[in-house]
Amino acid sequence: MSGVSEKIRISEIFGPTIQGEGMLIGQPTVFVRTGGCDYRCSWCDTLHAVDSEYRHNWLAMEVETIWSQVHYLSGGVPLTVSLSGGNPAIQPLGGLIKRGKQDGYRFAIETQGSVARDWFADLDFLVLSPKPPSSGMKTDWDILADCLATAGGGPRIGLKFVVFDDADYAFAKDAAARLPDLPVYLQPGNHTPPPPDDDDARIDLDGIMDRMLWLVDKVTADRWFYATVLPQLHVLLWGNKRGV
Ligand code: SF4
Repeated sequence: MSGVSEKIRISEIFGPTIQGEGMLIGQPTVFVRTGGCDYRCSWCDTLHAVDSEYRHNWLAMEVETIWSQVHYLSGGVPLTVSLSGGNPAIQPLGGLIKRGKQDGYRFAIETQGSVARDWFADLDFLVLSPKPPSSGMKTDWDILADCLATAGGGPRIGLKFVVFDDADYAFAKDAAARLPDLPVYLQPGNHTPPPPDDDDARIDLDGIMDRMLWLVDKVTADRWFYATVLPQLHVLLWGNKRGV
């Protein structure tokens, strides 16, 4: 099924745990985190799956090898597999999705929407997470539209925004206005990503809670009643620890 060119660059596979963000928050999942990203967000909390400095930890894996790990971790009981990164859209994940679906698993991806792939149509959930000004990145709205077009009517689609400040909030509002049919998830940013090799779980809990309350005030004052405001649940539970 998968030749050499179809190998997938993997940073880590872990779980089952729960999804900590967005439309599937709280739901059991196994994470397949790919290595490599076309962005370099200033506050990226998964540098170990982004920076080429860590690529010696990434493995080029065949679909069947990845699938046997997911199958083992989930005890063979179908659940939602979360494809994460890095930017998972830069990896050839179509074969993995097809393989998992044969066993009745569902697939969710989160990507910034900078690369459109035809296999988006095979997903169950597509979370597009355009990066706000505080990231230092710029969204190409035409490519994001391509992502939606290639997904077609396949997956359930949502927009997720990390918000640190007023400029990020304005960005999220503008993006939601461009794409009025999509549900919107807002989450306060976390300022304290640990060094990638550090298992230290410390977080700026006060800062996160302050931004969460600020965000709730903003949304309610604006009567933005279809937005959903959520914390990063996994950060509250486990801090910035990897593999949970
Ligand atoms: S898009 Fe995501 S993984 Fe890539 S640099 Fe930004 S926060 Fe990190």
